[in-house]
Amino acid sequence: GWNFQSAAKETAATTDLRTDAPNSARMYDYYLGGKDNFPADREAAEQVLAAFPQAWTVAHENRGFLRRATRFLAAEAGIRQFLDIGTGIPTSPNLHEIAQSVAPDTRVVYADNDPVVLAHARALLTTSPEGATAYLDADLRDPEKILGSAEVRATVDLSRQVGLSLIAILHFLLDDHDPYGIVKTLLDALPAGSFLALTHATADFAPAEADRAAAIYRDRGIPAQARSRAEVERFFTGLDLVDPGVVVAHRWHPDAPNTAGDPTDAEVSCYAAIARKP
Ligand code: SAH
Repeated sequence: GWNFQSAAKETAATTDLRTDAPNSARMYDYYLGGKDNFPADREAAEQVLAAFPQAWTVAHENRGFLRRATRFLAAEAGIRQFLDIGTGIPTSPNLHEIAQSVAPDTRVVYADNDPVVLAHARALLTTSPEGATAYLDADLRDPEKILGSAEVRATVDLSRQVGLSLIAILHFLLDDHDPYGIVKTLLDALPAGSFLALTHATADFAPAEADRAAAIYRDRGIPAQARSRAEVERFFTGLDLVDPGVVVAHRWHPDAPNTAGDPTDAEVSCYAAIARKP
């Protein structure tokens, strides 16, 4: 990991982080109460919050799913290798911390296309000595590059089961980007017994608000597209969905039974599911 760490430090010093324009990773960081955001990000995030006041709930529930899904894959499915694309700015606990707390020998490759995430990648490389983590600066729209990268080759064995984590990223791909083809390319490279875990923003429950939020992203140059339950289910074509299938994030294996005190489906507006490649 030392080389990656020094690379991340250099990137932080030399890369133009384009702080004048908002960016999805820093807006998400703002919803989560993080500090790694700039005025342009906060302005855009406040616009989204004006259109969709529960955007911070979406982010928190999404993060809750990430924790439960990773624990499920590590503890119940026995997954020891993860490929997490669309990692985001490091947020505790990070995926490798969750998985390695179950199985210290877990190996994780993180990938994101955002220079801000790259600049923070050091925080993702704090692996347990028995395991490994790597960070890859890559775009989901080029899945072959991810699969063929030195980081993936050196860190995970693609002949063994992998947990592919696409959490809160696919709604940043428009249909024109061929998100279904991209997910299929990634899954085709993984053996039977691998898993796909994803979350995806939806306008099914609060159509006007969710569409307005997506438009705010697009107006600022960030592609964004909410998808319906059927459209989200399509990502799992050919896979066996883990019960209860595609549900709103806080309903997927909640730590405690859902109650009337939980956020509503409209407030969460984000589908989640896990499936196994047969
Ligand atoms: N998975 C994390 C972070 C989600 S925020 C979580 O759920 O908590 C979405 C992340 O996806 C951002 O960091 C953004 O930079 C990244 N992203 C968006 N489009 C991408 C693309 N085409 N390729 C790689 N990363 C992308």
